Amino acid sequence: MTNVDLAILGGGAAGLALARRLAAAGTGLHVIVIEPRERYTDDRSWGFWSRGAHDHSALVTASWDAWSWQSDGGARSGSVAHTTPGARYELLRAADVAAHALAAIASSPSVELRLGVHAERVEARAGGGLRILTDDRDAAHREITARWVVDTRPRPADALLYQCFAGSEVQHGGRLDLAALGMTTGTAGLMTGMTSDADGFGFTYVLPLDATTALVEWTRFSGHPLPAARLAAERDARLAALGIAPADGGVVVREEAGTLRMGRVEPPDAAEPGAAADPPGLVRAGAAGGALRDATGYGFQRIERWAEACAAALLRGEPPVAHPEEPWARRQMDRIFLQALRAHPERAPEFFTALARRVPAASLMRFLTDAARPGDLARIILALPKLPFLAEIPDRRRALVARATEERAAMRAAARLARRRPTESAGSGAAPTRSTRARHPQPARA
Ligand SMILES: Cc1cc2nc3c(=O)[nH]c(=O)nc-3n(C[C@H](O)[C@H](O)[C@H](O)COP(=O)(O)OP(=O)(O)OC[C@H]3O[C@@H](n4cnc5c(N)ncnc54)[C@H](O)[C@@H]3O)c2cc1C
Repeated sequence: MTNVDLAILGGGAAGLALARRLAAAGTGLHVIVIEPRERYTDDRSWGFWSRGAHDHSALVTASWDAWSWQSDGGARSGSVAHTTPGARYELLRAADVAAHALAAIASSPSVELRLGVHAERVEARAGGGLRILTDDRDAAHREITARWVVDTRPRPADALLYQCFAGSEVQHGGRLDLAALGMTTGTAGLMTGMTSDADGFGFTYVLPLDATTALVEWTRFSGHPLPAARLAAERDARLAALGIAPADGGVVVREEAGTLRMGRVEPPDAAEPGAAADPPGLVRAGAAGGALRDATGYGFQRIERWAEACAAALLRGEPPVAHPEEPWARRQMDRIFLQALRAHPERAPEFFTALARRVPAASLMRFLTDAARPGDLARIILALPKLPFLAEIPDRRRALVARATEERAAMRAAARLARRRPTESAGSGAAPTRSTRARHPQPARA
């Protein structure tokens, strides 16, 4: 059995950010990080607006003075590029951030990272503190006792919208036509080619890393999670449309993909009075603890700010702290915005273009980076069309999520029926054959 002051479950962005700070501060606390991965890879990149130097400044891979939003044709089309004095959009690679944290942890005598291990259960101990049961191959290490637990493991939840994306870092050799995207090499194309179809709103995130390489991510805001294979196929179609697919000579050097919950809606039982609460001493953090901004899905800087506050509390001998509660006005604005996007995906390009055109860049950036002033909120409200947003003032999150669950269940049932019918009519209870499955493919929706 291992006995520690603090167990951090999950060594991703949040877990490593906290462990790195404690290690670098020379904590006297005994800390353990439990992480299932055997090794860290370059599986994602973090983009964010930066107003100055920060802990990862030396690791920034690329940065841009300007950022743009561009819609894809139609009467209200256009491209809007902004520069925000004093702020740059920066990109960090996950591999560099992890290496930075691992170096700090390796040099600490009291912070340990245990790789290749899942935390399976956390429970309160009779005499105080917490017990964590893991699947460590070494039975002697399977049980950990801790005074506190910071739990960053992913947790199931519904969401108002799912930001689903598949991206490729492509060496295009100069073939990418930035001007057609309303960009230059100094511009981060945060939303290019904004478009809508039956599955919702979509756009391409284009970051020119240098003159010959770009990160290109096809992104959708959808009412349900979308299958990874479908997103990858749509991304490949975008690469082809941009003339940088492998068939055009583009070389894919790295891929990344994800599904982010925008406007997390916790399961009803978690919100109900009397529901099984987390044991005392356990704090949820990271995306599963509410780190992602509802309206954007951005989380990296919010996680860094939380890690700083949490490490400071621990270093003072106090318990770990959770992410701060979202201010009421921001929470309501994000919810109304997401409900409006969900209700009118066909108007999403118009909404974003209105924001980009009518709201001063500095106000918009403050809003997107959690630093909005009352005047910024007023400018955003005035810039958007009134009717679709007024209609979304009532909080409809639970009703929307319940309806989506019912629709998905109905689709799954219909798909099951469609798969079963041919064999039933043949008078056999046998499982569908490969050719039957091919004639009745699974619906595209997850
Ligand atoms: C591909 C991608 C790109 C993103 N890009 C951006 C961006 O550009 N800008 C931005 O601000 N945000 C971005 N985000 C959002 C957010 O910053 C990230 O999701 C961030 O990694 C969240 O940190 P986290 O620690 O909560 O989750 P993670 O980093 O996913 O860490 C969770 C950890 O828990 C571990 N775990 C899982 N099960 C167990 C278990 N049973 N026991 C112990 N550990 C477990 C996982 O292995 C993982 O390491 C992106 C997200 C993704 C997925």
